[in-house]
Amino acid sequence: MKYILCRAFLISVFIFCLAVPAAAQQVKNYTFFEGTQYPLRVTWVFGDEPGPVIMVQGGIQGDELSGFFTAQLLTRCKVRKGSLIIVPRANEPSILRRTRQINVDLNRRFDKEYNSFYEDRLARAIRFLISGAEGFIHLHEGSGFYSPKYVNSLRNPKRYGQSLIIDAAVYKDIKLAEMSARAISKLNAQISNKSYWFSLFNTDTFAKATQYPEMLKSLTCYALHERGIPAMAVEVSKDIKDLGWKVHQQLRATVYLLREFGIELDVPEFTFPKSPSGKGFEILINGKPLRGKSIELVRGAPVSTSGKAVADSGLEPAVAVFASDRPNLNLLTAPRMALSQFPALEVRIDGSRQAKARVRWKGSKPDLPEVNGPVFLCWLNGQPRFISAGGTLEAVEGDQIILEGILGSSREEILNLKGFVASILLNSGQDVGHEIIADPANFMAKYMLEGQDGISRYRVVRETPGKKRSEFYLSIAPRTIKALELQGEDGDPDFVNWANGQHKLMRPDSYSLKDVWSNGDRCKIQAFVDNIPISWGETFSVRSGKETVLTMRHTTTFVPVGQMVFKGTDYLQTRLDQ
Ligand SMILES: [Zn+2]
Repeated sequence: MKYILCRAFLISVFIFCLAVPAAAQQVKNYTFFEGTQYPLRVTWVFGDEPGPVIMVQGGIQGDELSGFFTAQLLTRCKVRKGSLIIVPRANEPSILRRTRQINVDLNRRFDKEYNSFYEDRLARAIRFLISGAEGFIHLHEGSGFYSPKYVNSLRNPKRYGQSLIIDAAVYKDIKLAEMSARAISKLNAQISNKSYWFSLFNTDTFAKATQYPEMLKSLTCYALHERGIPAMAVEVSKDIKDLGWKVHQQLRATVYLLREFGIELDVPEFTFPKSPSGKGFEILINGKPLRGKSIELVRGAPVSTSGKAVADSGLEPAVAVFASDRPNLNLLTAPRMALSQFPALEVRIDGSRQAKARVRWKGSKPDLPEVNGPVFLCWLNGQPRFISAGGTLEAVEGDQIILEGILGSSREEILNLKGFVASILLNSGQDVGHEIIADPANFMAKYMLEGQDGISRYRVVRETPGKKRSEFYLSIAPRTIKALELQGEDGDPDFVNWANGQHKLMRPDSYSLKDVWSNGDRCKIQAFVDNIPISWGETFSVRSGKETVLTMRHTTTFVPVGQMVFKGTDYLQTRLDQ
């Protein structure tokens, strides 16, 4: 079982029963982009009493560790008033590589809609989450120490550490400076080392002469300017080595700001683990635990990996197994056939390398002659597909594809999907071993070969030096929904013909979302009721006289597939009225 499936138990609503029977706090966990290389795990904490909804996010840049630990610890808080949307790890691929960015800086993708990289899909979902919030706190870790005046190379206006960042002192009637200053005075009152005190950092983003024009592309600026909600960033310093201390202070800052926003909450005491990643995971490679310095693999055979938590650190880390030749393909969520040999496997937990095993290769076979041309091996939604030269790999919009190689060849083949850019850093044409999302809007239009019925086709060309050029096609059909299967409380199935954009009168009831009839895998569609994600089998209500909006989105791109509005109509009442 893939690690991601083990997480499925999290996708449920649990109720915490408290001593006072009337008070019940609800926590909902949900993963956007489930099963992709860029899962976005979100926790909603609904307080006992209604109040503002505030979003807190960490981990947008993978080398800023404090933010994702702080946000993760915040998911354990007790909210008395208001509710929280918490995104601890906004950019898991960058966290797994401990780098600021993989393709582009995700925190510079909010000035407009982009669609080039996975980062842009994440930005799409983050914008969606922000649209349900009335305030936003962004957790970062910057270098050095911010100071409005130049003190030295580590303490000056171009350093970001130990500051609360705002885009303006006052924006419309939002008093960002006042709110932040109050939080800072409470923070600093309990920090004895003055050189670690927090400062207010106003980037004056909207001023013509701003020193920080790049902030116009940031998420806090988007939240403030486009959504009109208060937003600030809490930066701790990369130049303070004690991670536990930084997380503690960042959490304090977050709590003070949340209180400024009108949230009432308590954060439980915690002891930050000395080594936060720990050895809490057991990784299995082909069913055997990965222990020691080497592992035996068979060339030409599948490499299956799975992992399970053996100790709970409370930090819900991002876990990955990487083969050394494919540094961005997490084998816990992507299949692999070892056609070509790679030297090592490594396990990373929140980006920290926990184990590295050299591969001892067994059963090297001679290369097979390609009598009738090469046979290409690809993965479509995790299933193997074998395609002869000139053949077609048939996909549906939003499917996941990985080009693996050529059967019987032990070389690292070069396969180029024309129109797709796997990596902005080295556009070598090599698309083997990258997760490719079948999204024509993401491919270069000039490479599209027209097909019938809205199907687009692309060429995948073998460009391995010294080998005869050969190719196959990838076709992408639009994803369509034909019908829904719902189940009312009486247990009888209700079939709804899908009519995108239409209103439908429905008997008021509680409906379970049983199934969808579409032209592809069901797991590639995620359902949202009134903009709250619901899983297959979960229930939603249609109330008399009220409208309930059901939106279906592509799991891999977050783009809507379609939407229907259910209007609760009491038929008996209608008849009497007439
Ligand atoms: Zn940052």
